[in-house]
Amino acid sequence: MSINISNVAFHYPGRASKPVLQIPKWEVKSGDLVLIYGPSGSGKTTFLNTIAGLILPVRGSIEILGEKVFKMPGFRRDAFRAKNIGYVFQQFNLIPYLNVIDNIKLAANFSKKKEIVKIDEEIIVLLKALNIAEEDWELHSRRLSHGQAQRVAIARVLINRPKIIIADEPTSSLDPLNKGSFINLLLSFVAKYEITLIVVSHDRSLSKYFNRVELFSEINII
Ligand code: ADP
Ligand code: MG
Repeated sequence: MSINISNVAFHYPGRASKPVLQIPKWEVKSGDLVLIYGPSGSGKTTFLNTIAGLILPVRGSIEILGEKVFKMPGFRRDAFRAKNIGYVFQQFNLIPYLNVIDNIKLAANFSKKKEIVKIDEEIIVLLKALNIAEEDWELHSRRLSHGQAQRVAIARVLINRPKIIIADEPTSSLDPLNKGSFINLLLSFVAKYEITLIVVSHDRSLSKYFNRVELFSEINII
């Protein structure tokens, strides 16, 4: 089992009167491709942050790859995330003053997975596969177009060969054509490396790409 959530509750500190998550049970098998729909403000980002171990549930249990990550001390949680979970953030969170290659290299350093020499080669393979032109590899990430930044964000996640990728509204600002190519690209890597994929969105047109489509309101019964 990739993810196993039971009886999770969460509210932000000091806001107990405003519960954000109330999830009786939710499971994801290895290799599942899950799309979750929900309106803005319904707690989707908070939900992904609890799966990533960036925030801890107030109650309940979240097992990731069989491990109770929420019980780990912070430094082990961070190491577990770097090794196993690729998070494509809504705003990408690229480092603006680092170039494309260094943004990816930094992520690889955090996960401490491989020898640096091999990482350089893998970064080039990924950048080519993601259609990022060689002339842009040395560009500071703040100079990238939105579509390019998105693809660099994917490369940064893939370099660590995570077992799980979670993506927060990754297509929210793409036109339909770029949306399709972006999702297809992500899915091709996910299939190749047998990664479990969880995407949250409010964009209904993405359904056809996934084998599980769920309403967030049926997962989170707040
Ligand atoms: P979504 O991603 O579905 O738009 P969020 O998880 O961002 O929803 O937010 C869910 C609710 O939690 C919202 O009411 C939001 O205002 C609140 N919220 C989000 N982040 C914080 C925070 N850091 N502190 C307090 N409240 C927050
Ligand atoms: Mg959100």
